[in-house]
Amino acid sequence: MGNATRAACVIGWPIKHSRSPLIHNYWIELHRLDAEYRREEVAPEAVADFLTHLAERGYVGCNVTLPHKEAALSLSEPDDRALAVGAANTLWLDGGKLRSTNTDVEGFTANLDASVPGWDRGPDDAVVLGAGGSARAVVYGLIERGFEVIHVVNRTTERSQALRERFGGAVQPAAWNALPHLLARAGLLVNTTSLGMTGQPPLDIDIGPLSKDAAVADLVYAPLETALVKAARARGLSAADGLGMLLHQAVRGFQLWFGVRPGVTPELRALVEADLTR
Ligand code: NDP
Repeated sequence: MGNATRAACVIGWPIKHSRSPLIHNYWIELHRLDAEYRREEVAPEAVADFLTHLAERGYVGCNVTLPHKEAALSLSEPDDRALAVGAANTLWLDGGKLRSTNTDVEGFTANLDASVPGWDRGPDDAVVLGAGGSARAVVYGLIERGFEVIHVVNRTTERSQALRERFGGAVQPAAWNALPHLLARAGLLVNTTSLGMTGQPPLDIDIGPLSKDAAVADLVYAPLETALVKAARARGLSAADGLGMLLHQAVRGFQLWFGVRPGVTPELRALVEADLTR
């Protein structure tokens, strides 16, 4: 344990891969705060004890990553976003209460705001590939921004149906073979599957049918420029990458714990890019 006045951490199992300490400690140094951000490896059977005694461990809050996001939700007082998404990734102590939110939602929308201004002008459809945990945050963000038709294309139909039950009629489950037709009418395509990630199968789709005004977002950030983002840029389409979302989702936690709203700057991005390509 260090001696900083305020400390936060990221908990997960495993946790070695997390870039959160790099991001938050960069901001701590930049703003010359008497603070510290650490990694904590917490096994599933220990998460309830860890979160219940967060203050005694010297923390004002924490980030939560796999596999603890659902447990964190049930062990805290979630806001509307965390409740709707069904997972919490940012927790903070507020008086005696442990509160939580899900910052993947604003990570996704703020990254698009920064990379593709006007992306939510509408009234086009959105196409979301995948129906896992991150798709829930993305769909919530799209509904918040006024998208009325969100086609969710997923290998396992039960999961895209579950998204419709969770978020209502804006969510329209669809099959992979409907993609050419759906893309032709879409203003936004988002990949929330792990396809295209290093070590995973490629995301094998043809974005040819997308109109020239459509935008593309990929949540995958390893590799930094996925085949999807590369194909979009090669066609002259606007694209938002996964690293941008990762950086933007970190902002709110830092503000809640340390009282300063940090910026997502080219310097921060370069720092994390260098770490990811190491
Ligand atoms: P989940 O495990 O919850 O969901 C994975 C999704 O990928 C499911 O829809 C799954 O389909 C689909 N999928 C996986 N393998 C295949 C395959 N072989 N063929 C077809 N579909 C497949 O993961 P998350 O939603 O949490 O994360 C998904 C990706 O998003 C990861 O790469 C993660 O790193 C990234 N991510 C990035 C963030 C950022 O800040 N940039 C934030 C959160 C996630 P099915 O339901 O059929 O299994």
